[in-house]
Amino acid sequence: MIEIADTGKGTSIVRLTPARCNIFAVTRNGRTIIIDTGISFDRARIEHALERKAIVPEAVVLTHTHFDHAGNAAWLQAEYGAEVVVQEAESEYLAAGDTPIPEGTRAVTRGLVSLGKKVTPMFRYDPCQADHVFGETFDLNRFGINGYIIHTPGHSPGGATVVIDGVVALAGDSIIGTTPGKPFPPFADDVDLLLKSWRKIIDTGCETFLPGHGKPLIINELKEEFAKRLLAPGG
Ligand SMILES: [Zn+2]
Repeated sequence: MIEIADTGKGTSIVRLTPARCNIFAVTRNGRTIIIDTGISFDRARIEHALERKAIVPEAVVLTHTHFDHAGNAAWLQAEYGAEVVVQEAESEYLAAGDTPIPEGTRAVTRGLVSLGKKVTPMFRYDPCQADHVFGETFDLNRFGINGYIIHTPGHSPGGATVVIDGVVALAGDSIIGTTPGKPFPPFADDVDLLLKSWRKIIDTGCETFLPGHGKPLIINELKEEFAKRLLAPGG
């Protein structure tokens, strides 16, 4: 259970329910937005969790549109009237319900991707027309949330990181928390671009980082990995 009961500045961030990716509910003064949505298989569990917590999400922010993050955006929009927010480089993928998956950054995952390519239809999801498409940044105060989104491409072209209260960053698959000590994602479209985005993510000044998969990371873990990567580019 990942739960930040209070950022120290009045916002709670809770993992809504176990799902194919981390789905976070960000709540401030009774108003909630959802970050990422899992796959359609997760839908019943999401519905249950929203009901149990009496949440009606006002918005859905996608950290990117890979099938395991965008699978319930259309449903949350239709069912709850949640406004969907996505970075512009992936709004067309989202509208098509079809987002290309990235290359592996390590030999093992490269093999997995070539297997995956033969079965692409399983990576499709319900198409969704976004309500808000942004370029560099997006202000979340319109939903009552003290935060903003920045464009952090590299894992995918429309990668986005959500910064809450200036202390917690939800970075989607730009970072990964499934293997301790290895926060650099095993899949990325563009490793150099992802490193530039890491700079931006570190420069947010946040202390805690919530990944799209796995457990939270702290700033020093990111800084150490970043320093290593700079010494061995492409490593
Ligand atoms: Zn992804």
